[in-house]
Amino acid sequence: MASEKNRIITIANQKGGVGKTTTAINLATALAAIGERVLIVDLDPQGNASTGLGIDRRDRKLSSYDLLMGSHGILETVVETAVPNLYIVPSTMDLLGFEMEIAQKSDRVFRLRRALQQDEALAFSYILVDCPPSFNLLTMNAMAAAHSVLVPLQCEFFALEGLSQLLETVGQIRQTVNPALDIQGIVLTMFDARNNLAQQVVHDVRSHLGEKVYHTLIPRNVRVSEAPSYGKPAILYDLKCAGSQAYLQLASEVIQRERQRKAA
Ligand code: ADP
Ligand code: MG
Repeated sequence: MASEKNRIITIANQKGGVGKTTTAINLATALAAIGERVLIVDLDPQGNASTGLGIDRRDRKLSSYDLLMGSHGILETVVETAVPNLYIVPSTMDLLGFEMEIAQKSDRVFRLRRALQQDEALAFSYILVDCPPSFNLLTMNAMAAAHSVLVPLQCEFFALEGLSQLLETVGQIRQTVNPALDIQGIVLTMFDARNNLAQQVVHDVRSHLGEKVYHTLIPRNVRVSEAPSYGKPAILYDLKCAGSQAYLQLASEVIQRERQRKAA
């Protein structure tokens, strides 16, 4: 079981390009802005969260690979970002080897959980894990280590189909390695109000999943897509843009759900 003293949220969707990394970076920044100490664990070998937060490859001497291998702990692998209160365990291409190196080990799914269960993880009130775009061993590690899963869903035709696969996977994880795993929520991303199909997808997802879907819709916004090339979260790059404002609103919904859960 993960500790009750902090919250570990895995950001997952087996599809690429749906807004996982953008959500990890901007949700983390919004939480850090209100004074939470936040850690992102970059579990994607592509390292987009690390690059998007301006972490130079030369500053990735240690990475999430070392954390998973158990050779180094969080405080050794963590790097400070330009955002106050926001830290990251960056990733490197080393992660590509993790699956092969670890496939035969009986604790292969529990590597991240073990690292995040150390007392040093309590230095962070929120830990967000950015997953690669597949149901591989890295994503399994992220789901085994988390309190909850937050699912970014792009407003497009196959959204619901992909979502049901993902919810099935969460169900399997619950039955096997992490019975307490919760769905934090589903966030609809890259929403374009002028697109009828997007409107229909929002309607369908809400009618299937009701309250699990956040009220906040993340709009498609060019400022959000520009920000990573400056090594900055959109919220720092352009706080006023519609995308940044939506991510701030999402953060308040996430916090509200955490409060409700604690009160229950
Ligand atoms: P994933 O991590 O799921 O692969 P990303 O967060 O990297 O997805 O997003 C995929 C691409 O879409 C990136 O180029 C990103 O900058 C862009 N993007 C993400 N969210 C938005 C948005 N709200 N508006 C415009 N572009 C976005
Ligand atoms: Mg990504």
